[in-house]
Amino acid sequence: MTNGDLGLVTYSPAYTLVPTYECFNRCSYCNFRADPGQSPWLTIASAKNILEQIRHRNVCEILILSGEVHPYSSQRQAWLTRIYQLCELALSLGFLPHTNAGPLSIAEMQKLKNVNVSMGLMLEQLTPKLLETVHRHAPSKIPQLRLQQLEWAGELRIPFTTGLLLGIGETEDDRWETLAAIATLHQRYHHIQEVILQPYSPGTRQSSYAAPFPWEQLPEIIFQARQILPSDITIQIPPNLVKDEGWLIACIQAGARDLGGIAPKDEVNPDYPHLCEHQLREILQPAGWNLVPRLPVYPQFDSWLSPQLQTAVKRWRETFTPISRKPTQV
Ligand code: SF4
Repeated sequence: MTNGDLGLVTYSPAYTLVPTYECFNRCSYCNFRADPGQSPWLTIASAKNILEQIRHRNVCEILILSGEVHPYSSQRQAWLTRIYQLCELALSLGFLPHTNAGPLSIAEMQKLKNVNVSMGLMLEQLTPKLLETVHRHAPSKIPQLRLQQLEWAGELRIPFTTGLLLGIGETEDDRWETLAAIATLHQRYHHIQEVILQPYSPGTRQSSYAAPFPWEQLPEIIFQARQILPSDITIQIPPNLVKDEGWLIACIQAGARDLGGIAPKDEVNPDYPHLCEHQLREILQPAGWNLVPRLPVYPQFDSWLSPQLQTAVKRWRETFTPISRKPTQV
C-alpha cells in the first residue's frame, strides 16, 4: 500500500501557552483552574523565551488557552490585552495563533480576530440541567451564552472550532440536540471548521470525582454525529482520551478525521499524555490511514483573514503537504 492509497487523518502540530490558570468558574470536573489571584500571569518575556526555543521544531499552531477573568473584573481589560499581545508575539515569530479563552464580548472577539487565524469555544452541552450539577458554580457555562459566541463568530466571519464534552450528565437526546444546534448555526454562517467530541476523563486535580465517559460508546456517537453535522465540518477526537489503539482506529472508521493539536502537554487533561506524532502514525498506517499535519485554519477560510494573517498562513501552506480531502463519508 502506498501513501496515496491511504485515507487522511489530520493533526495540528501545536504548543499551548496559558496566559493564566485563574478562572472565576468552578466546573466540578476541571483539572485546569486555579482560584483568582493564585496563578501568576504568563509574561511576554517568558512566552518569548518559550516560543524561541520551539521555533524550528515544526510547530505551527500556538493555542492560547486561558482561564477566565470575570467580565466585570477590573482586571478584564489587562487580561484581554495580555492575550492579544501573546498572539501578536506568536505571529511575529512565525506561528499561527488560535485562542480559546471562554465567552467573550463581541468587541473582544472582534479585537482577537485581528491576531488569530481561528478561535474556539466548546459548546459542551446545551441542556440547562447541568447548571444544577457540574456547572452549578460556572456562570460561563450558561448554554445560551455559549451558543451566542458561536453565532457572533459566524457574524464576524471567524473560522471556529467547537465541540461537545461527553459524559457530564447529559442524555443521548441532549447530545443530538447540541449537535443539531451546531449544524443549524453552521448552515447559516458556514464558519465551523471542526467539532471536537471529547470524552470526559477524570483527573487528579478536579474537585469531585465522577465516572469517566464509557469510551466504548465513542465510535457510535461519532457515527451519529457524522449523520447530523454537515459534511464540511470535520470531527475531531483527542487521541490521548481514547482507551487504546483499537478504539482509536474504530473512532476513525466511524467518521473522526482529525486528532486536534498534538502538543507536549494536554493542559486540560494533564493526566493523559499525548502520544507523539510518530507513534500515532505507526498506529494509523497499518490500518490504512495516513497522518498528516494541518494548519489551525482550514483552507476554505483563508480569504476570511486579514492580508497580514493570510501572508502568515500562506507560508505554512507551502510547508505542509496540501490536503485535498473530500467531505467525510463513512
Ligand atoms: S472547565 Fe474551564 S470554565 Fe470550567 S473551571 Fe475549568 S477553566 Fe474554568
